[in-house]
Amino acid sequence: MTNGNFPDKGKKEEERSLNFIEQIITEDIKSGKNEGRVHTRFPPEPNGYLHIGHAKSICLNYGLANKFKGLYNLRFDDTNPLTEEVEYVDSIMEDVRWLGFDWEDRLYYASDYFEQLCQWAEKLIMKGKAYVCELSSEEIAAHKGSPTRPGKDSPFRNRPVDENLDQFRRMRKGEFKEGEKVLRAKIDMSSPNMHMRDPIVYRIIHAHHHRTGDKWCIYPTYDYAHGQSDSIEEITHSICTLEFEVHRPLYDWFIRELEIFPSRQIEFARLNLSYTIMSKRKLLQLVREGHVSGWTDPRMPTISGLRRRGYTPESIRFFADRIGVAKRDNVIDVALLEHSVREDLNKIATRVMAVLHPVKLVITNYPEDKSEEVDAVVNPEMPELGRRKVPFSREILIEKDDFMEDPPKKFFRLAPGREVRLKYAYIIKCEEVVKNDAGEITEIRCTYDPLTRSGLPDANRKVKSTIHWVSAPHANEVEVRLFDRLFLKEDPDEAEEGKDFKSNLNPDSLKVTKGHVSSGIENASPLDKFQFERLGYFCVDEDSTPGRLIFNRTVTLRDAWARMGKNQL
Ligand code: ATP
Ligand code: MG
Repeated sequence: MTNGNFPDKGKKEEERSLNFIEQIITEDIKSGKNEGRVHTRFPPEPNGYLHIGHAKSICLNYGLANKFKGLYNLRFDDTNPLTEEVEYVDSIMEDVRWLGFDWEDRLYYASDYFEQLCQWAEKLIMKGKAYVCELSSEEIAAHKGSPTRPGKDSPFRNRPVDENLDQFRRMRKGEFKEGEKVLRAKIDMSSPNMHMRDPIVYRIIHAHHHRTGDKWCIYPTYDYAHGQSDSIEEITHSICTLEFEVHRPLYDWFIRELEIFPSRQIEFARLNLSYTIMSKRKLLQLVREGHVSGWTDPRMPTISGLRRRGYTPESIRFFADRIGVAKRDNVIDVALLEHSVREDLNKIATRVMAVLHPVKLVITNYPEDKSEEVDAVVNPEMPELGRRKVPFSREILIEKDDFMEDPPKKFFRLAPGREVRLKYAYIIKCEEVVKNDAGEITEIRCTYDPLTRSGLPDANRKVKSTIHWVSAPHANEVEVRLFDRLFLKEDPDEAEEGKDFKSNLNPDSLKVTKGHVSSGIENASPLDKFQFERLGYFCVDEDSTPGRLIFNRTVTLRDAWARMGKNQL
């Protein structure tokens, strides 16, 4: 890994106090553990697309390896043939790469360890530490007891070693049906930790696996495969989320009994975001039931959805770094994620003017056959990008919202008799309003002050407001997808009795409208990013075709929800 993969945070990063994981690693290095080596991994299960929570984990694991000059692996935890698909494997690799991380030649699959895991299971059997159990899953659950009540031994618990070994090998050969037998670790049915009550190690699944095909019909459980995979790869620090804290004694038991490399597990609080669902099972439900257009729908919290929405890898890495690592579960305000992308796009997005809800405005004293080009900036944050030319003419479009016939006191934009500045161009004054029979405004008629353009004598004349506009004959028509939060509730899981998270879906999370964009987008291609001045950041969608551009709204310029508790536009 090169430093080039990380945003250069310079001195500040060095000066930041160490988080609790960094402290643990620093101590381990100091004490000479693992010869001072640091090796982490990101272990996704290929049963869905990666989401922003995974991005946090990726940045954390790879960031730690980078900070301590160590290595990191990408490992697919592909032990469940029933839910895993190649499509997910491919998307995960694409997303990790896009985030800016290069695993070099360290790409692994837990399924490559099936033989080793099976040998280790036999080792446990031979040590008298595992047995083949023939109870049904319901019986096993009933025998488990409860946290306050000890469990009951399985009648198969004291089978002789030879019989266990024979049974297990026959399980592997495919002699039994699913659910008929399982291999269980023999630990302690009265342990206060439920995970230690003879957990299942192997179960029979007659299913095709996306990598091993039909070679196996027994599959290791997550708890058995995960820790051992870390050991095989000699992962020094196995970072995982808090819910695995109670599994740690079991993982340590396996390490002791199998006498294998002792990876150190460290738990941190998973990322929870307000207004966001992060469970893959629920995200899959949204996809399957058509509430979104797919895993890459720009409203999804998936990395591919965020990418399509217009997020940059830098903004996600910056967000992951800024929220830090916590030991207790908490909920991060999604506004912080939006703020991160706004900050990054402000630096890189080309400015253009666009009108989304137009009303026609005619400048009556501007010659009919004339048009001119006014001078505008490409990006005020990057003066080196220079200037752009914006066509101006007698007929322009402005945003309906920027005009009020009967304005309240605090409205300073255009109104009858009032003056505003057209951004980069002239000051205009509203003289007349034309309406149709239904009383709707069809045209606003104005005069302009020809000396108020930049470079002319009255360029600095002040008016209370500046609005954006687009020259009507020069406007590019595009489709604009106005995305909003997918859920209306801060905690989407908090639903009324008898309803679930889907009852909190925001029915207005997508509005499609026609946009009229001034010059500057003619050669745009998918993922290009723009600021529509005064409106927000927009990104060209992958569904665009030449001549039919589609823009996704990434984020508004300001946090509209914080201000008014509800989205505008
Ligand atoms: P889900 O519970 O939705 O199925 P998962 O945690 O099982 O998700 P995995 O593919 O197993 O998904 O996750 C890969 C890694 O990403 C794990 O190490 C996991 O701890 C981490 N991870 C998953 N979700 C989050 C999250 N919200 N915040 C931080 N890390 C996460
Ligand atoms: Mg998992």
